[in-house]
Amino acid sequence: EQNMNSLIMIFGATGDLAKRKLFPSLYRLFERGRLTNKFAVIGVARRPLSNDEFQQSVKDSVVAALGRDKNIEEFISHFYYQSHDVTDSNSYISLKKFAEQIDYHYSLDGNRIFYLAMAPEFFGTIALHLKSDGLTDVSGYKRLVIEKPFGHDLESAKELNKQIRTAFSEEEIYRIDHYLGKEMVRNIEVIRFANAIFEPLWNNRYISNIQITSSEILGVEERGRYYETSGALRDMVQNHMMQMVALLAMEPPIKLSTNEIRSEKVRVFRSLRAVEGEEVKDYFVRGQYGEGTIEDEQVQAYRNEPMVDKQSTTETFVAGKVMIDNFRWAGVPFYIRTGKRMTEKSTKIVIQFKDIPMNLYYQTEKMLNPNLLVIHIQPEEGITLHLNAKKAGGHLDAQEVKLSFANTGVHAMNTPEGYEKLLFDCMNGDATNFTHWDEVAYSWSFVDKISKFWQKEQASFPNYQSGTMGPNAADELLEKDGFFWWPVT
Ligand code: NAD
Repeated sequence: EQNMNSLIMIFGATGDLAKRKLFPSLYRLFERGRLTNKFAVIGVARRPLSNDEFQQSVKDSVVAALGRDKNIEEFISHFYYQSHDVTDSNSYISLKKFAEQIDYHYSLDGNRIFYLAMAPEFFGTIALHLKSDGLTDVSGYKRLVIEKPFGHDLESAKELNKQIRTAFSEEEIYRIDHYLGKEMVRNIEVIRFANAIFEPLWNNRYISNIQITSSEILGVEERGRYYETSGALRDMVQNHMMQMVALLAMEPPIKLSTNEIRSEKVRVFRSLRAVEGEEVKDYFVRGQYGEGTIEDEQVQAYRNEPMVDKQSTTETFVAGKVMIDNFRWAGVPFYIRTGKRMTEKSTKIVIQFKDIPMNLYYQTEKMLNPNLLVIHIQPEEGITLHLNAKKAGGHLDAQEVKLSFANTGVHAMNTPEGYEKLLFDCMNGDATNFTHWDEVAYSWSFVDKISKFWQKEQASFPNYQSGTMGPNAADELLEKDGFFWWPVT
């Protein structure tokens, strides 16, 4: 039985992430009785605020996100605020004293979670100070939760990792990939390993290709300054897309423990076919949105967005073919695709099975549809299995039928996504759905080779219109293998 009592320190408590995700998620845990009375939160940020003002902002964010406030006064009474300068030792020393008082008051057994919800350039500095100024000298557990991005490339990720490892061991580090908190991402493993009808087919003998799409309608919004230093490859592919590839491709773990699951995922990363130099052109496509129309609204090109360079070569779209060179997957392409200003907001996975050996139900021109297993990650959550069955009343014609399971009722609109589960896991000491350093490192080294090639090559941007599914080259990527992106709904 894990000791859930803990003092959670949120660095960046006046920020967007804290307000939109962390406070509402903590509240949901609280209302469902998953937090004991022994918890407290110290919000840390630069601007001066009183405890009352901070508690009011927590309350406001809960109401804004969830539209309810039952027992909110009791909830916010656990929240405290400390104004803080992340580069100043004195700040940490007073924070340490304050934390000790709170710990004593709530009997938190010296357990501490440090949640870094701040600009990533401060991650290393904060970790070093937590150690040197004594905040990590605790009698209970200490855990570091660290937001994305984890570095900018392998080099900077290593540097960051070195800094945080001076204060925390690998087991104490919880690197957030919020996709791993999503209900249906967690379901991939169950669908695969709990069903006799899938696992025997889950290999290159029966699967022809796998397609993972994560599309957004939104453009870069106010994040232009950050996005210009990042782009879709770093912001989406290195972490979320590659994590989904790993979950789909991994071998069954010996058991469902953190170490076993993570090591199977690492083995997938180790089997990735490295793509570099001119080869990148055969495997990856980048795009940047131009102007266009989305949902009847005229939107501007990426290059005209605030804080974006008029000549920017930052990609807002990536499509790629990922090959996993191991026994199970040899020859099966994993196509990934992600971008902004696309047709719809959606994340889904399509597993396309190979054709049956002979088609008895030919209807002159119409081929049989292959079987598809679609895993809907968001906004809908569910599974659809595409089968062929006899057309009712007709002769022996086959038609496509869909078996659907919709994960409704579990989630209402505006769920704080996976953060609720991830926070709970962290308090429970379960790091399974956080990324291990080895996964991060392998994934960066895969992605770095692609960005290195792109840096040298001219990009002819913009190359896709807002409100479309990306540049034509993304379709050609599959066409040359004899496939196409399934427009499944
Ligand atoms: P934000 O700019 O809204 O908030 C930054 C916070 O840091 C504020 O509370 C600010 O007061 C504090 N801060 C900044 N400089 C400081 C200093 N010198 N000393 C003390 N405090 C300081 O940022 P955000 O959107 O909340 O993002 C925080 C982190 O979460 C980033 O790493 C971001 O990449 C990551 N993230 C955010 C989202 C999101 O939806 N906002 C999603 C995924 C990951």
